[in-house]
Amino acid sequence: MDFSLFGRKFTRHAGITQLMDDLNQGLLDPQAIMLGGGNPAAIPAMLQAFHDEASQQLNSGELLKSMINYDGPQGKDKFTAALAALLRQEYGWDISAKNIALTNGSQNAFFYLFNLLAGEFSDGRKKKVLFPLAPEYIGYADSALSEEMFVACKPAITLLDNGLFKYNVNFEALEIGDDIGLICVSRPTNPTGNVLTDEEIRHLDELARANGIPLLIDNAYGTPFPNIIFTEVKPFWNSNTILCMSLSKLGLPGTRCGIVIGPETLIQAIGNLSGIINLAPGGVGPTMVQRWVENGDIIRLSEQHIRPFYEAKAQQAVQWLQEAIPHPKLRIHKPEGALFLWLWFEGLPIHSQELYQRLKQRGLIVVPGHYFFPGITDATWQHQYECLRLNYAQDADKVQSGIAILAEVLAEIC
Ligand code: PLP
Repeated sequence: MDFSLFGRKFTRHAGITQLMDDLNQGLLDPQAIMLGGGNPAAIPAMLQAFHDEASQQLNSGELLKSMINYDGPQGKDKFTAALAALLRQEYGWDISAKNIALTNGSQNAFFYLFNLLAGEFSDGRKKKVLFPLAPEYIGYADSALSEEMFVACKPAITLLDNGLFKYNVNFEALEIGDDIGLICVSRPTNPTGNVLTDEEIRHLDELARANGIPLLIDNAYGTPFPNIIFTEVKPFWNSNTILCMSLSKLGLPGTRCGIVIGPETLIQAIGNLSGIINLAPGGVGPTMVQRWVENGDIIRLSEQHIRPFYEAKAQQAVQWLQEAIPHPKLRIHKPEGALFLWLWFEGLPIHSQELYQRLKQRGLIVVPGHYFFPGITDATWQHQYECLRLNYAQDADKVQSGIAILAEVLAEIC
């Protein structure tokens, strides 16, 4: 079949496609140890809460109502109004429902946002999305309509005690020319578990304003919900910020509910795009959490159940890894949030893709690190071929078995 240029670009075997394929394959093969995908963990207290809420919403008729009707293209009004009220009350943000649009997952929102704010403009100018700190989320990498739409900055790397390390934005190297249309960061960052400090966010906000461009903060794991953050940072939004949130890491990825909080003109544009591309975003996710948004439980559940669950899992996995693979063969990015540990094997004699293949042959699925450098053009920078991402939040026996396989394979290589 003869595919258009669009077809060719969007049917490539992208990193994100490999990830989703592996996830699917792993689900079919019960023996595979799946430490690859970004599936949130099944947290017993959250499963119970979802179960109770689903029953309640089914009995009240609301759940069925959300399935037998289309919402408007900007998403369920009742939900956006309740969320605006919650954020106004908790953080004093100057927002209303006109500042919020829902999408079918936040992945869907990035496609809209990147292509709205970067790419080709009517006067012939071309603009790019800047990632001030790579590694960055694999899902951004192939979501642009134009080629070469991303540019990224290498991080400052600080080596910490106990074989840990941390990335920071290297502000000295960060250049924002007039070809940049948007600055984008994930906080916490997938894949690294890095959390940009409040000071880094303040500085990026200042740079974005000075250059007349928005700052997009991908808050899929962030505060105030699902709050998979182990450091003390504040929720951030102002009139120049586009904050993308999601119900996925709260534990509802199958509902495909993304939330964009931004200036009214941008939100109207997202609504228009949604109308053309999707008719409307799904209403089941918003219905499931409507009451929790109205009474603030969405924040309390995140704080009481979600954050402690992941924090304990992350600490445990770091301990197992360090026991199995001694420093300096392995360095681990300080786990500050999200579902992943980012492993750096400095001086690894093979490419991370090759390491991934060898692990896959032994039944362990992880994600090779080189996919997470969208916008990095320096092919000689070895660091990008020396890392892996591991989802630490799966069942303890799987994580332990996976770490044992990783240690064996590494022992054969170096
Ligand atoms: N942002 C980050 C950093 C992610 O890791 C993910 C998914 O793993 C997403 C966004 C997309 O999530 P969803 O489309 O399920 O909202």
